[in-house]
Amino acid sequence: MLNALTVDVEDWYHICGMEDIFPPSKWDKYQDRVLIGLEKLLDILRERKVKTTFFILGYVAQRNSQIVKLIKKDGHEIATHGYGHIPVYRQTKEEFRKDLRKSIKIIEKISKSKIIGYRAPEWSIRKDTYWAFNILKEEGLKYDSSILKVRLIGEPTVNRYPHKVKTKNGEISEFPPTIMRTFMGNMPIATGWGLRFGIWWDIKRTVRNLNKEGIPALFCIHPWEFDLEHPRVRLPFWRNFVHYTKIRSTSYKLHKLLEEFEFGPIREVLEI
Ligand SMILES: [Zn+2]
Repeated sequence: MLNALTVDVEDWYHICGMEDIFPPSKWDKYQDRVLIGLEKLLDILRERKVKTTFFILGYVAQRNSQIVKLIKKDGHEIATHGYGHIPVYRQTKEEFRKDLRKSIKIIEKISKSKIIGYRAPEWSIRKDTYWAFNILKEEGLKYDSSILKVRLIGEPTVNRYPHKVKTKNGEISEFPPTIMRTFMGNMPIATGWGLRFGIWWDIKRTVRNLNKEGIPALFCIHPWEFDLEHPRVRLPFWRNFVHYTKIRSTSYKLHKLLEEFEFGPIREVLEI
């Protein structure tokens, strides 16, 4: 049973809601470190013969086209994470379309491959931004993976399995990251912090149960989680916790996942 492994390709200073600390006007001045973590991650995937989906930030591709070329060379699926890393709910429809188009143009030009997948920064497609699906469909995308079924961060009412969403111009596929149901609510065990913090046994059991029902799981990791030396800055308590907690465990958890389950890119898992 094929599950989806995804990577959000962004740098250490792309932290949502932290524009006061890392204003986009200063991004060009910060040390470009994506390659450090990315190369470690690509090595692991090559060793394990696993292909995944890379949601590349347009800004990152523009700053260092080598990143896109390396991912392409290894045969992974290339998708977009938008251009400027602004949550959808902080953009107008026009701004969202512009940001999306800009990212697709840059990434397609470098990769010479057609992009069909999108992931919003910070799981920011929620009920109040479902209009984004119309724009994604109009711009030629075939699937989205931007809705986290978790209260406070995402959209708790969404279907937690891969499903189709109706738009003005037909359907688009949605593949939410896997969550674990607990007595405290849904836990995000498949995304960055959740994966690092989650207990391996819980993660394994959740994926196994899903796969038994014929449902694929979806995980999300970041290159900076493999770059342990990236600059640490003082963030508000909650952000600090989410961003840096147990960062060393990403590599360990990834190895465990790849040992235990089969993974592929989204377009293969959804057979698009
Ligand atoms: Zn992101």
